[in-house]
Amino acid sequence: MVRFLLALTLTPGAALAQTAQPAPKLVVAISVDQLSADLFAQYRAHFTGGFKRMSEGVVFPNGYQSHSATETCPGHSTILTGVRPARNGIIANSWIDLGAARTDKTVYCAEDERVAGSTSKAYMVSAYHLKVPTLGERMKAADPRVRVVAVAGKDRSAVMMGGHRVDQLWYWSGKSFEGSAIGTPARAVTRANAETAARIARGDKPLPLSPLCALRSQPMVAGTVAIGTGRFERAAGDARAFRYTPALDEATIALAGDIAEEARLGRGPQTDVLIVGAAGTDYIGHGFGNSGSEMCLQLQALDSALATLFARLDKAKIDYVAMLTSDHGGADASVRDNDRGLPGAETIDPALTPTKLGEAVAAELGLPAPLLYGTDPAGDVYIDRAVTGPARDKVIARAKARYLAHPQVAGVFSAADIAATPAPDLPPENWTLAQRARASYAPGRSGDLIVLLKPYVTPIAAPGPGYVATHGSAWDYDRRVPVLFWRRGLRGFEQPASVETVDIAPTLAAIVGFPLPAGEIDGVCRDLDAGAATTCR
Ligand code: ZN
Repeated sequence: MVRFLLALTLTPGAALAQTAQPAPKLVVAISVDQLSADLFAQYRAHFTGGFKRMSEGVVFPNGYQSHSATETCPGHSTILTGVRPARNGIIANSWIDLGAARTDKTVYCAEDERVAGSTSKAYMVSAYHLKVPTLGERMKAADPRVRVVAVAGKDRSAVMMGGHRVDQLWYWSGKSFEGSAIGTPARAVTRANAETAARIARGDKPLPLSPLCALRSQPMVAGTVAIGTGRFERAAGDARAFRYTPALDEATIALAGDIAEEARLGRGPQTDVLIVGAAGTDYIGHGFGNSGSEMCLQLQALDSALATLFARLDKAKIDYVAMLTSDHGGADASVRDNDRGLPGAETIDPALTPTKLGEAVAAELGLPAPLLYGTDPAGDVYIDRAVTGPARDKVIARAKARYLAHPQVAGVFSAADIAATPAPDLPPENWTLAQRARASYAPGRSGDLIVLLKPYVTPIAAPGPGYVATHGSAWDYDRRVPVLFWRRGLRGFEQPASVETVDIAPTLAAIVGFPLPAGEIDGVCRDLDAGAATTCR
């Protein structure tokens, strides 16, 4: 319709001038792990750096990771593929393969278990399980000069956004940045590792509290953990604590900028891709919840680190389009929710774990235990493969009945239920629970049952150090994320209606001039032009 109007009202020359902006030289795709739409809204007015710049571009405050398995790996798998987990294969961070030849039946999303000796805990990092190409891969296939660089605080974030063929792929391994490169690894990596090792060895003094963060500093106790007033003081040599501080994102983003500079990304005739996975917000959300001084200090530090990255690209006079989103949202620690007007927040009943519920069903039906398997207290639940035929149907019926009788369970879906669920024809906020589950359900890989908990029931049975709050539910506090675009000269606007993170890849693809084949993706291009012209070509 927009094009039709243009044809009527403008001369072809004028229409061309409005629509055919040259492709940017660089796509900067940033994921801030666990940056919920709620968290972004809470801090938006206070940002002064990189987040502020993104907020002045095209803002979709109501983006959806529309599926029910709101975890890191599925979330990152949607961002640059344009494909939901049901079709791209990344149904969870980890899943169970009871038919696996190895003893370890858990499969990590970013491993290649065909490699001898790989386990879900000590694995070969790989994009093997991602069944579709990323935007960067498609761009490289069309033009071999295109370079794709992915730098992240987590291996799975770098892998799922980078894809199967990445020029440089680096992630924080817990002690250093590790990864791989086609050709010579960047010298910047060696330098970053030396600097980070020195910083870890030195320790960190507590960060000063800004006036904003002082307002949010309020002590709480979650299980055995003191939260709410943290300032990231870190003992000399404590490498484990490093990732629970803003320094992780500072190091990650600085490395991304260094590699971009060293590899001269965005300075050739082609469009390159720089992917940044900032994991700190997620670690800090898990470790301290999202409403204390800790999250405040983290977001202010990240705001500043992103500003530095953008300033470097500006200084190099690179025409780049920046996109910022998140892999999922997140909930606060239950104890703080209970103290702050949400008395219903509760922890999961341990009787609901696949092991415990499986024991109950096994006893009822006279079957041997263990009967049910899962990597998490809810989500994908797998039935012992030895149970077949009518006995298996009975297990499904009895397990469903037991789950549904429990006051903390919102829904349980078998493979047959999912298969009978129609594709959604409404925006993601209106999807049924079954439709949310369907969006991250891949037959043959997903559980025999998908168990979804009620809102504000946390799967954390006992909060401990590093784990007082989480995400992963089918509810909007975990599904809603901001989706932001910025390019110099692009007039900003805000579109409050919901969009999906699978819309990001086709939107960026159109801007760089590689429209994605509609049948191969689940998302749609979103027009970033504020006026009558369109960026969706
Ligand atoms: Zn995450």
